[in-house]
Amino acid sequence: MTKVFHVTREHPENDALRQAARFILEGGIVAFPTETVYGLGANALNPHAVKKIFQAKGRPQDNPLIVHISDFDEVYKYAELVPDKAKILMERFWPGPMTLVLKKKDIIPDVITAGLDSVGIRMPDHPVARAFIKACGVPIAAPSANISGKPSPTRAEHVFEDLNGKIDAIIDGGPCDVGLESTVIDVTGRIPFILRPGGVTREQIEDVIGEVAIDPAVKGDAGRRDFKPKAPGMKYKHYSPEAEVYIVKGKVEDVVDEINRLAEKDLSEGKKVGIMATAQTYKMYKYGNVMLVGDRKDTLSIAHNLFDALREFDRERMDIIYAEAVDEKGLGFAIMNRLIKAAGYKILNV
Ligand code: AMP
Ligand code: MG
Repeated sequence: MTKVFHVTREHPENDALRQAARFILEGGIVAFPTETVYGLGANALNPHAVKKIFQAKGRPQDNPLIVHISDFDEVYKYAELVPDKAKILMERFWPGPMTLVLKKKDIIPDVITAGLDSVGIRMPDHPVARAFIKACGVPIAAPSANISGKPSPTRAEHVFEDLNGKIDAIIDGGPCDVGLESTVIDVTGRIPFILRPGGVTREQIEDVIGEVAIDPAVKGDAGRRDFKPKAPGMKYKHYSPEAEVYIVKGKVEDVVDEINRLAEKDLSEGKKVGIMATAQTYKMYKYGNVMLVGDRKDTLSIAHNLFDALREFDRERMDIIYAEAVDEKGLGFAIMNRLIKAAGYKILNV
């Protein structure tokens, strides 16, 4: 059975973390909070333990895991080479929601990297995450703590829903701050590549190291069947609730009109309709279950609630979910990336 530990972020150094760390050192798997989403951790140096993560999540073997560390210097133990641009990024954004893909050392087992010669490394900015990794005394390999394909977990209850009985323990440290995964940036080549947009924005990164490239997988080419992304995980169906998700894009008033029109029609056909609204539009919807996800002027509020909203609509057994597109600036870029995947590339332009 899965044991649940409650830990507060104000006083993370407690006995619960030591007990949870014991599971890790015995080769078990434990979910823990980070500032992005909940992670499902195992001792990164124990291939047998790492395999359990893939089993519990139903994660494809060719989708590599991120290695989490609690101190800057650990990066040199696991990366063969840390280029200057990587050092600048570490200094500016660690601890934080940014994963660096670096050439790996042999000590990192192949199961983590899916056979690649690079490894994704991140130092999280959540006091519970760092205290837990420290208590373990080993690097922690961790993907998001959900069943593969489902929206990522941003609360301990989401982890419980998906993985109760399949993992040793869950450390409940309350809701995650950012609510979206880390930005994955490959710094092994001459030009840094953003493989997955996330909590640190492209603009923030370009501010400190100049221009970066964006992997075409991020932009929607991944919808094409023949497409091979650089980050193996980007090709899979992701973040998907049971309901059919549509993104509606255009001028805000037109978006609202179109969603009202579609929702009325769906309801007349006996379907259950969920609408992901923003502070600016919430009162303008006339039909369906309208949920306030955040404020268009504060994209962090939308990021924070996005996955929870998708899961909530599943609990309410919606057939169809309409989501308003947001501007692809700042965090909006990562929000749209997750929404597009949740929608399986179904975007209605108005
Ligand atoms: P998740 O753990 O679910 O947040 O997914 C981790 C993401 O990081 C996936 O999209 C992986 O494909 C990507 N990733 C991890 N390690 C590497 C690597 N060595 N090279 C490229 N992408 C990576
Ligand atoms: Mg994931």
